[in-house]
Amino acid sequence: MKDVKTFALVAHDNRKKDLADWVGWNYRTLLNHNLVCTGTTGIMIEKVLSEKIENDNSDLTLKSVLKLKSGPLGGDQQLGAMISEGKIDMLIFFWDPMEPQPHDVDVKALLRISVLYNIPSACNRSSADFLISSPLVHETYKLKLKDYSDYLNRDLYK
Ligand code: PGA
Repeated sequence: MKDVKTFALVAHDNRKKDLADWVGWNYRTLLNHNLVCTGTTGIMIEKVLSEKIENDNSDLTLKSVLKLKSGPLGGDQQLGAMISEGKIDMLIFFWDPMEPQPHDVDVKALLRISVLYNIPSACNRSSADFLISSPLVHETYKLKLKDYSDYLNRDLYK
């Protein structure tokens, strides 16, 4: 991982306010990194960041926020694919523990793939606070991936 990271930010509707608040607290750090979001989350994050920049008296600028499809329309799957391709370094995913989602299977798949590829991920506010406070966010970091060669080279014809 490079010193400039790519953060994926996602929140279910009941958690969007929490994520907007977290982004508001951490905008100075987040503006140094690349941001990828599911569709509706991305629109909200862009709005929060633009307002913060407007009220900040320094020369901060907003690099673009890459907005994927809305989560239930495939955005979670797009994010999962990007993780498997090594394009996402961190996942902040405020999923809703109180409501079933139409795309529950996609949510589970996204959580699974983030664990499989060992990317730092946070699913609640305190974890996100600890994650973004880590000095490693600003440094290069060698991600250790489990070796799946035995699995890939297994003999299917014996
Ligand atoms: P949304 O999707 O950002 O388009 O609301 C979030 C999700 O449900 O994964």
